[in-house]
Amino acid sequence: MDETIRNKKRRRCEDNWKKNKITSKKIPPTQLGCKCLWACRSITLEYRVEFFNEFYKLADYSKQQGSLQRFIHPQIIKRRRHGKYEHPSESRRSHSFSYCLSLSGGSDVRVCLKTFCNTFAVTPRRVQFVGEKILVDKMDMSEKRGGARYSFSDQTAWTYKIIEHIATFFYGNAY
Ligand SMILES: [Zn+2]
Repeated sequence: MDETIRNKKRRRCEDNWKKNKITSKKIPPTQLGCKCLWACRSITLEYRVEFFNEFYKLADYSKQQGSLQRFIHPQIIKRRRHGKYEHPSESRRSHSFSYCLSLSGGSDVRVCLKTFCNTFAVTPRRVQFVGEKILVDKMDMSEKRGGARYSFSDQTAWTYKIIEHIATFFYGNAY
């Protein structure tokens, strides 16, 4: 009886250990960016590997999440009332964030989510979490400022857009 419990425990530890080993093994980007409408192709592989190395040097999940924040920019979404969308739910989401890798020269290179994920060897889900965090922080900030919530200022419109955006995480799940 005691023996089986101990075995079970040990097996679980070994499983966790194996899992950690697997997740810590990340492969740096090896391919040039895709041919999309953003600038994925214009950023060199060397630069992307550099981003990758810098990212994993942090060796801490939350620090890594924090470091991703500077590359992810929420977009103010202008909804077209009479626009034609192939997928109405996606049209609102698809460009709600932009991903920019900043080069040492100071220029920002905008890349698509695929290249972004590939550069840091992270999942779109993880990137989505960072984006969510940025939006929540922004919302907290506007709440702290106060007063603006009941006036029809830009601030209010922004806040509503954020709320609406966050709602899509719960009702329309893309990943
Ligand atoms: Zn791309």
